Amino acid sequence: MRSRFFPGLGLRFASIAFYSTLAFSQNTANDVPPVIDVHVHAMDESFPGGGPMRPNTPRFLASDPATKEAPFGWDAQDQCTPKLYPAAKGEYIKDVVAEMERLNVTAVVFGDPAGVKKWKDAAPNRVIPGTSFNEGMTPGKRVALDELRKNFTQDGFKVMGEIGLQYEGISPSDPSVDQFFALAEELDVPVAIHMGTGGSGRANIAMRKFRGSMGDPLLLEDLLARHPKLRVQVMHAGYPLIDNMLTLLQANSHVYVDVAGLIWSYPLKEVNRYIERLVDAGFEDRVMFGTDQLEWPKLMAYSISIIQNADYLTPGQKRDILYNNAARFLRLNPAESKKP
Ligand SMILES: [Zn+2]
Repeated sequence: MRSRFFPGLGLRFASIAFYSTLAFSQNTANDVPPVIDVHVHAMDESFPGGGPMRPNTPRFLASDPATKEAPFGWDAQDQCTPKLYPAAKGEYIKDVVAEMERLNVTAVVFGDPAGVKKWKDAAPNRVIPGTSFNEGMTPGKRVALDELRKNFTQDGFKVMGEIGLQYEGISPSDPSVDQFFALAEELDVPVAIHMGTGGSGRANIAMRKFRGSMGDPLLLEDLLARHPKLRVQVMHAGYPLIDNMLTLLQANSHVYVDVAGLIWSYPLKEVNRYIERLVDAGFEDRVMFGTDQLEWPKLMAYSISIIQNADYLTPGQKRDILYNNAARFLRLNPAESKKP
């Protein structure tokens, strides 16, 4: 997801005490069970001009094309969730890394190699580097195959992502990008593909090439048939196409999902219902925690709290989602974190 969907979100409400509810106890990382965030973006700064944001909008507002329409449809008047604030200029990476230390988070950080290196330098033991063939906002712009090969064989990159073909209106099974997935299969590198969420409620205005239909998880079937060893992270869990997502998970046992973006971008009851459905269908071992961290440093703590507070998950299932499943998917360490 890209945060330019939310310019000015949150607007001009007085700051409310809700925000202080995000202040956690003074635990150090040693006290806190480990968390893996499989979906972070290697940004230098909070987006210029971005504002405070209230996660989990309760509704997407209708608009009239005869009026000047905002590029997002979130209900900025809602006051049900705390405001999350962008970082001060020059402090975004430092602020997020401090949160990662406090919350004991290791993160897969996606971006162009130079941008990811800044994060790796800032938190060498907490950053797993990821890069893709279509980083950047220019549709059709591709990284050379040899360059990408070098990223994964020499430069230490571990995950191929975020692959945002849906923003270009292209299916992940499109032959024009098959060479990149063939490379990932050859090198045994997992791929992370944006599937599902459009986020803003105004995709037709803000993202003219985006196609909801290109986020259908079943579009991955041809790709997986061509590359049977490919390990796939379906970013945003194919939301809201739950039936097709379950169909894919049932057919392909090395497909995992992340709940990034989805977890804070939609009405909370709906988010919980979606995650519960994935777990109830038998896939508690394939749901991975993620934030889509891209602007507001406290987003990580807020998103973790949604899993921690989910009354439909057992303590063991929470540990699986917050850590164990990603550790298995990424082949980090055979020792799983202790289930309470
Ligand atoms: Zn995404």
